Amino acid sequence: PCESGNSMPWFGMDIGGTLTKLVYFEPKYITKDEADAEVETLKNIRQYLTKNSAYGKTGHRDAHLQMDDVCIRGRRGTLHFIRFPTSEMGNFLALAKAKGMATLVTTVCATGGGAYKFEENFNQEVNLSLAKFDELDSLIRGMLYIDATNPHECYYWSEPTDESKCQKVPYDFSKPYPFLLVNIGSGVSILAVQGPNDYRRISGTSLGGGTFLGLCCLLTGCNSFEEAIELATSGDSTRVDKLVKDIYGGDYSRFGLPGDLVASSLNDVCSFGQMNSKDRRNTVSREDLARATLVTITNNIGSITRMCALNEKIERVVFVGNFLRVNPISMKLLASAMDYWSKGTLKALFLEHEGYFGAVGCLLQFTG
Ligand code: ADP
Repeated sequence: PCESGNSMPWFGMDIGGTLTKLVYFEPKYITKDEADAEVETLKNIRQYLTKNSAYGKTGHRDAHLQMDDVCIRGRRGTLHFIRFPTSEMGNFLALAKAKGMATLVTTVCATGGGAYKFEENFNQEVNLSLAKFDELDSLIRGMLYIDATNPHECYYWSEPTDESKCQKVPYDFSKPYPFLLVNIGSGVSILAVQGPNDYRRISGTSLGGGTFLGLCCLLTGCNSFEEAIELATSGDSTRVDKLVKDIYGGDYSRFGLPGDLVASSLNDVCSFGQMNSKDRRNTVSREDLARATLVTITNNIGSITRMCALNEKIERVVFVGNFLRVNPISMKLLASAMDYWSKGTLKALFLEHEGYFGAVGCLLQFTG
């Protein structure tokens, strides 16, 4: 439905509840005709997007994720990955207008709830119409494309419970089906994927990345996701949670639960269970509270995922979404939760471009 045909520029946009993800395809070779026809505005936009790594106060280009020499619709080029908070949409539109976007393309491919919410703003403020695509279709299409294109895309965490041995290991995901796809954004969606065009949304939870960030800001006074993760990294959730040993007073071997097996891989603890005591509240730090919030949200997602995998008889789980950005604590927790409770039959997999697949899938659906 993109009316702009194959003329540049090519964008895919995923306007989520928290973050807007923008993927831009920069062609490697521009034909002479295109160069002649390339209006000054487009050249400026191309240079603005590809030469900067920050846009205004809140826009970022994830240069480490950049993919060179990819092929899309017979064109070679580079994929650039850009994100900004959806709350900054007003500034984005003003910038797009100032850069003359409206004079270049008539249609931008978009997905996510914001493609509906902001459609009128795109129309009226920048004279752009949105070609809207389904977000789950886009997510799966984008992830399959990136995984097939980037040989280092998929990995798992080996020995996730042993900090000294734990490391990222590449995983060959060339025969993917069936798998569970767990998208941890503001909320969580769980899909069972049987084939490229054969999937169902089987479950989800409203306790997701947005919940972690919201609760963490409330409890610690932090102001950003990065700060929340930094606090959590030096905190100890066992000072906040009630553990097996706090309840049973030692090992509780009848159920195979070692008493000091900390909250990290178990959900048989009571999250925040020590915080009813005033004395305990007075001894915990912001770091401990951040860590406990992260562990609580992550373990809940882990246990819902495990139940889904069991129900669907699927053994591989791919976790995506920006909640996992700069967040090895949650990835390792999910990896050990899958491992521990399934006695090794379930495998937790992760992807480098974690939060960008919806936007990529959207760009690919551009039909021209
Ligand atoms: P959505 O499409 O719902 O916005 P995302 O996959 O983009 O979902 O994930 C949003 C979540 O990612 C947030 O709730 C938060 O937990 C986490 N996150 C990671 N980086 C950031 C950031 N820079 N700003 C806000 N949230 C972030």
